[in-house]
Amino acid sequence: MRLPIVLECPPRAILTLAVFLGAALTPSFAATSYTISLINPEQHLVEVKIVLAEGSTRRELQLPVWNALYQVRDFAQYVNWVRAKDRAGRAVAVRKLDKGRWQITGAQDVAIVEYQIFLDSFGPFGAQFNSHHAFLNLAQVLMYPVDARNGPMAVRFSQVPKTWHVATPLTPLSEGGFGADNYDRLVDSPVEIGDFKESDFDEGGARYRVIVDAEPVDYDMEKIVAMLSKIVAAATTWMNDRPYDCYMFIYHFPHGPAGGGMEHAYSTAISLNADALAKSSEALASVTAHEFFHLWNVKRIRPQTLEPVDYTKENYTRALWFSEGCTSTAADFIELRGGLIDEVRFEQALASAISELERRPAHLTQSAEESSLDAWLEGDAYYRRPERSISYYNKGELLGITLDLAVREASHGQASLREVFQWMNQNYAKKGRFFADSNGVREAAEAVSHADLGWFFTKYVAGTEEIPWNDFFRSVGLRVVEGTNTVPDAGFTASRNFDGPMTVAAVTAGSAAERAGLQLGDAILEINGKMAAQEFSQEMAQLAPGGSIALKIRGRRGGERELRWKAGSSEEVSYELKDVENITAEQQSRRAAWLKGEAQISQGTQLQE
Ligand SMILES: [Zn+2]
Repeated sequence: MRLPIVLECPPRAILTLAVFLGAALTPSFAATSYTISLINPEQHLVEVKIVLAEGSTRRELQLPVWNALYQVRDFAQYVNWVRAKDRAGRAVAVRKLDKGRWQITGAQDVAIVEYQIFLDSFGPFGAQFNSHHAFLNLAQVLMYPVDARNGPMAVRFSQVPKTWHVATPLTPLSEGGFGADNYDRLVDSPVEIGDFKESDFDEGGARYRVIVDAEPVDYDMEKIVAMLSKIVAAATTWMNDRPYDCYMFIYHFPHGPAGGGMEHAYSTAISLNADALAKSSEALASVTAHEFFHLWNVKRIRPQTLEPVDYTKENYTRALWFSEGCTSTAADFIELRGGLIDEVRFEQALASAISELERRPAHLTQSAEESSLDAWLEGDAYYRRPERSISYYNKGELLGITLDLAVREASHGQASLREVFQWMNQNYAKKGRFFADSNGVREAAEAVSHADLGWFFTKYVAGTEEIPWNDFFRSVGLRVVEGTNTVPDAGFTASRNFDGPMTVAAVTAGSAAERAGLQLGDAILEINGKMAAQEFSQEMAQLAPGGSIALKIRGRRGGERELRWKAGSSEEVSYELKDVENITAEQQSRRAAWLKGEAQISQGTQLQE
């Protein structure tokens, strides 16, 4: 079923469900209709009513086991009860088939399924309802009818407190509620319900809505809008495309741990720690540019291995180095073009990304493709250890940088990563096709550079060969210089899953941390009297060699303790990007094009000459 309408910002397009679905249909029989009732904020309980359109005698309903994050989270664990009735109100049988699937028998006309679900995991990957607000990742809340997943859906909200409003990129319906043309689109639309602040702006013919749910003292809406205008202008001109009329940004700035960003086709939801935001708006610009670029890369330029989405188990893909990592590379160029970072900051960030990769021993044992497949293990602290895994974000961002330089070299300056993305947009996204993971990226890179780039993919994408940085950076007149720094050494490393506590991942043998009693798996609640709300590296950056460390921890067998010791120091390898000696005019010219994220010689210009 195709929809005869263009999605617009909710305040502009008020349609009836019949119009939304096409006039010939009787809406109540054609669509799966959901009502989400916010029944108890203290207990974090909502009740969902699903009116299933008529269908066969036996219907199955599935609640996804994963969504948003590549981690199986079994949302069914939060379902308290399920019941069903027919149109006349007679109870019909509900039979549980597995942990996340239910079968309804004997309601061939219309069946009404009701269930209660507990929602208290914070955004942007979770669903949460409390006395402050509701933020809903709908895949965590809504079961789908297995035989009607691709059919139209409507959702409405009930028992919403009087002072709360609803913000979502879904299309509003005149009879109340919102519509989507299938389940995937429905759950690709986050919902914020509460007493939030809102702004909007137009840029390049599109409308942007900005929703912020945070303490007013913690942010400046005008500054956020100014930053967003730069990002969307830079991104749409870089891609030479704008595949939407309306886009929504949803922000939360909590004082506790914050979840990060989640991309959607027509929106993004971003959660950033308020103290980190107070120090610098750099992280906000960086995560926003990344999530915004995802509207192309991963939402529309999409690997075949992620389609169709399998909500019942892991969806394995080797392409996250590109879909995530190269999204970060694109975000770097967008920030440069938008004037949000300068050359110095860009090269510093690249150097620290190189340092991060080189310091992880696993860069010699786990490839970028394997890291993508293993994304499903990221919830486990052991997996996150430097000797066990690399990050497909980190290596993928650097592969985006080096692939860009390789394409420039192979095409004699006529193409860059920008042309690779535009080619994939034209040849895949615009044609409704999906790309064949790394081979699809290679196809695009070779098409725009007219050269064989198999070596790049074999060695650095599928393989674990050391990346010869200087061979890549020489063309733009830069070299990577290795050095060592004396850094404070706390004697342990820690990491966290997206919503979990910071957890000790390794304790250095013979260190003061070990003598103080710190153990693998201990959860860190406070560092030097403050809640451990940021990333481990950010927390440790505030430490000096010889400085005092006080940790409040919860041990693996329970029980809170305080441990104290003094930090030591250690030598750490780090990398810097510096100009080569005697930089040539040609290198300078290439550098200038590189910093714009553009081909040095535009193919259009060449044709005109
Ligand atoms: Zn991402």
